[in-house]
Amino acid sequence: MRCFSKSAVLSNIKIVAIASMLVSVQANAGSFIFAGDANGLDIITHPSGYNGTGGQLDIEVCIDSNAVDAAAMEVSVINSLRELNRLTPVSPNLFFGGNNDIPSGRIDFQSLTLHELGHCTGLGHPNLGFQEDVITGNNTNLAKTTLGANSTYAFNAGADGIFGSEDDLRDDDENLHWFAKGVNNPFVDVLAPEASNYSRDLAELPLGHDFAANAARAVGAALGFVNTEAVMQQGQGTDEDQRSLQADDVATYRMGMTGLDEIAGTADDYTFNMVYGGIKADTSGCDIVIESKTTGFGSCGVSGAFLPALNHFAISQATFSYNSNLTFWHFNQVLDCTLAVENLSFSNLTHNDSQNHAACSSITYGPAYLVAAGGDVTATAPSVTLNPGTTIEGVFTIISTTP
Ligand SMILES: [Zn+2]
Repeated sequence: MRCFSKSAVLSNIKIVAIASMLVSVQANAGSFIFAGDANGLDIITHPSGYNGTGGQLDIEVCIDSNAVDAAAMEVSVINSLRELNRLTPVSPNLFFGGNNDIPSGRIDFQSLTLHELGHCTGLGHPNLGFQEDVITGNNTNLAKTTLGANSTYAFNAGADGIFGSEDDLRDDDENLHWFAKGVNNPFVDVLAPEASNYSRDLAELPLGHDFAANAARAVGAALGFVNTEAVMQQGQGTDEDQRSLQADDVATYRMGMTGLDEIAGTADDYTFNMVYGGIKADTSGCDIVIESKTTGFGSCGVSGAFLPALNHFAISQATFSYNSNLTFWHFNQVLDCTLAVENLSFSNLTHNDSQNHAACSSITYGPAYLVAAGGDVTATAPSVTLNPGTTIEGVFTIISTTP
């Protein structure tokens, strides 16, 4: 069962800064964070490091050593980074009871982590969500919108009674949820979303549809995708394992990856490579920092700036914080080796930061790396092999580009 207790509310986005203006905006997230009345409905938000030039973005995620559960959360963080790097839709992606390893009454920290890292890399909620408890019950599952001209949300699930589906009647609420033009099924993979085939404009809906459908689990069940929901959907219950991305999450990322021109396959397209930076006392060089706090539930505070293109925004820094005083967290301790091992290559180790890699199968570094006694990988030859189940932490410095 889904638990919508107040304490189980997933995250609010706090926009710390917009461009050079220090503006504080209350949680008004869309399918891309920062989209809304304040910044523009069509805002597309990009991860840290994107400046309009295509290529691979290395995004380093670090755990603040002051975080109460720093050691306990490491596996959840590494697994979530691998899942983001894999960027492949999974259905079903919700597992309950005997189908997961979460003790009864506990909330899965790894599922929270995947959701919050989604915010930290630019994604908003596909649904309205709780919005500081202003919205409750099934209304939270309606597609993400603004209030519209009448300054009031229209809470109408339409004839099918399913909140968030294609026949919702939303009056003048302005849609913020992107969908495949002429399809409007967020459970179907969109291989190459771009402005020509992916939109938030309701005029592009299939004939007979009233509103953008979002990937809420009840909508999925009606469309034949049982136990499937967007990771970015706000609302996480106890005994709920949601550790894999769903089609809508992946499509939203892919749309962002088309870059400033919003056309897939052009020079300004990017990919991202999530890199685990380890537990650090000094997190100043990290793109995303994970901290504990003593209030709320989980959230990602994001700051960013407009890029030199209409409606495009890039994150500069993000902080995922969770309430360590809550006693219901379940910290997964099983490294997920069903996922592809991190995309380790010379090209993604060029930034010379301290990094951390955990191995499922053997990973060989080299011949350009050497491990020092303290674990630092700094010199040239010979190759270094990281055996299954072991972890290496250190400063990876490129000495030679010979693969
Ligand atoms: Zn959230």
